[in-house]
Amino acid sequence: MPEQEQFRLLIGGKPVDAISGKTFESQNPYTGTPWATISDGGPEDIDAAVAAARAALDGEWGSMTGFQRAACLRRLGDLVTANAETLARQEVNDSGKLYREMLGQLNGLGSWYHYYAGLAQTIEGRQIPAPNPNYLVYTRREPVGVVAAITPWNSPLLLMTWKLAPALAAGCTIVVKPSEHAPASTLGFAQLIEQAGIPAGVVNVVTGLSREVGEHLSTHPGVDKVAFTGSTATGRAVAKAAADRLIPATLELGGKSPQVVFPDADLQAAANGLVAGVFAASGQTCMAGSRLIVHRDVHDELVRLVAERASQIKLGDPFDADTEMGPVANGPQYDKVRGYLDTAREEGATIAYGGATEDSLGGYFIQPTVLSVKPTDTVFREEVFGPVLSAVTFTDEDEAVTLANDTPYGLAGAVWTKDVHRAHRIAGKIRAGSVWINAYRVVAPSVPFGGYKQSGLGRENGTASLDAYLETKSVWVELTGGTRDPFTLG
Ligand code: NAD
Repeated sequence: MPEQEQFRLLIGGKPVDAISGKTFESQNPYTGTPWATISDGGPEDIDAAVAAARAALDGEWGSMTGFQRAACLRRLGDLVTANAETLARQEVNDSGKLYREMLGQLNGLGSWYHYYAGLAQTIEGRQIPAPNPNYLVYTRREPVGVVAAITPWNSPLLLMTWKLAPALAAGCTIVVKPSEHAPASTLGFAQLIEQAGIPAGVVNVVTGLSREVGEHLSTHPGVDKVAFTGSTATGRAVAKAAADRLIPATLELGGKSPQVVFPDADLQAAANGLVAGVFAASGQTCMAGSRLIVHRDVHDELVRLVAERASQIKLGDPFDADTEMGPVANGPQYDKVRGYLDTAREEGATIAYGGATEDSLGGYFIQPTVLSVKPTDTVFREEVFGPVLSAVTFTDEDEAVTLANDTPYGLAGAVWTKDVHRAHRIAGKIRAGSVWINAYRVVAPSVPFGGYKQSGLGRENGTASLDAYLETKSVWVELTGGTRDPFTLG
């Protein structure tokens, strides 16, 4: 058996073992065997990382200009691109996602650092006219401070980058805590920080098997802001902890996104968009378009097209260039998806394709599944986080909008139609943070992403995200040099 790769924490600019000396193993979900040994950090490592982040904020990093931080960000972006293959391999070994998808994602990730490098140079306050002519008033934009970034297992480096790049642009320091289910790539990425010329302690990474590690970080008195991506249940706990400490929290949570297909749509294109939306990454994306809301006149044809394409999807080794779908990422997730398929059958779903595990391949394979269901069915209402598409029908536009919005989530959605008026009308009515028209699953550094309702708080990407890592300070300068009556205002 090949020797396991070793990954250590990054605290204060140094790769270190956990203070306890403990390690845990990361399992490859395709081979079913451990492939990496990971430092098993605990609360004491979080304490050390937060202290290092605070010291860095008060040190060299805190006095650097936006132009100097931009240079660091550009170098980091270039390093991510130069190391894309290694990082992609680590992501695949950890999560079973396709190598070609991860390589594409890593090759694009540098552009996030470059985009925020540009913004780092533009952070400026304003001179504000005051009603009292004796004052000059201006604002300064200052970093919010030490940031806790907590990420899930499904796209560790992408979702970390959505926090790290704007945080560094703003001048913050950060402690990153990746998921216990996919910890290695974030520690692999941490090895690039020093090469980018980023001072020690600005970026720290602590991994740990226990979920208490994330809890300790999100409740830590030394943290000034929490940026979290994960499930709605954990996000709620993080938000409560932030409220107790009265610090800001940005939350990117779950989704149950609708894809609304009208009878005039290009059904081939819609079928392709549905496949991309729910079977890419084996359905393990927060923005999975898992609810198909299709006009009853084209339901049978569209479901047939999607089921036909699903039946051709090549399952297998995530490193194989021909593979289109890998396993789901871990045992608990595999059990969860199987549970939803059992419930769907019990509730009377019609299976157009799939509906079972693919045991012949070993690993945690689930067949791409296409179901026709009732709007009340569990599989149509709850986030499965697996390769399962559930279809319901509508007869008119109002019913389509009602079905699309009948969910506690509001992360994303799509409208498929050739009618330009209807396309924009429906896009305006879907209560979600991103709506694609005749497309699905496109994101960019410059375009805000985030959720309505229980899908989250705040936005990542774009200029809005930078604001979330900045405080505004108003500075009043008395211009006359005189004294004033201390018992009147102004
Ligand atoms: P999760 O909520 O179980 O865990 C997320 C992270 O939080 C992990 O690092 C975990 O260790 C940590 N954590 C656990 N308990 C904690 C606590 N009490 N306080 C602070 N941190 C804690 O989520 P997951 O299973 O890793 O990820 C899947 C979920 O993430 C899905 O629901 C998915 O929709 C969501 N997600 C959302 C987005 C988005 O952008 N909206 C993107 C990807 C994934």
